[in-house]
Amino acid sequence: MFKIHGLYKKFGEKQVLNGVDLEIKKGEVFTIIGPSGQGKSTLLRIMNLLETPTSGSVIFDGKDLFEGGRVSVDMKRRMGMVFQNPTAFNMNVFDNVALGLKYRGLKKAEIKEKVEEALLEIGLSGYEKRLAKTLSGGEMQRVSLARAIVTEPDILFMDEPTASLDPVNTEKIEDLIHYYNKEKGITIVMSTHDLMQGQRLADRIGVMIEGVFYQKGTPDEVFSKPANESVARFIGINN
Ligand code: ADP
Ligand code: MG
Repeated sequence: MFKIHGLYKKFGEKQVLNGVDLEIKKGEVFTIIGPSGQGKSTLLRIMNLLETPTSGSVIFDGKDLFEGGRVSVDMKRRMGMVFQNPTAFNMNVFDNVALGLKYRGLKKAEIKEKVEEALLEIGLSGYEKRLAKTLSGGEMQRVSLARAIVTEPDILFMDEPTASLDPVNTEKIEDLIHYYNKEKGITIVMSTHDLMQGQRLADRIGVMIEGVFYQKGTPDEVFSKPANESVARFIGINN
């Protein structure tokens, strides 16, 4: 579904991505783990077309996303993104979730049906009229997730989606990630600094250090056979 080859990203003089190669298979959950400041967010932002690479190719369903220096709006519509800090627009819950649907020009009744279904899934039916800013962090992150998922993306990117949440709310988000992947077939690429979460959710894990993947494999492979000292040290510190 996604094929990334030789991806480099520089911010000014700072080399952040150093030749990333990555293939994402349809239907999988891939988690990116690694110490902070290693390029996880930058990679996700490039995959989600929020940032352009310095060089390298990013192919989504056979199409080079950055060919000719232009970003493909069509492809962008097939992606969803959830950020680390729950973000809500200054409007009520219904309108927050409906945003992408309105943008796509769906009919009112259709929008209502999809939003109600999404709110049911995230356990916030009845919250339609609540202003988003009056929600708790956990509720707001579920609204962010509903907003990303309601447009039925093929792939969902999440950048440390539970980093600011307590364990109870983290579990709710994890259950939803599992549900959207297993029941709705959405491919998921997420970063997390929580190794156990990576292990719980992922089909495959990539360990990102200094802007490249030092190792990619199933959670079992990565945790029982770290590819090198750096991976072993990172896993060791966090266990
Ligand atoms: P991670 O998500 O692994 O913590 P990031 O991708 O956020 O890492 O950042 C990697 C490095 O790139 C950091 O040193 C960060 O300061 C730098 N960086 C990220 N975004 C920008 C930007 N827009 N401008 C300049 N430097 C950036
Ligand atoms: Mg980050």
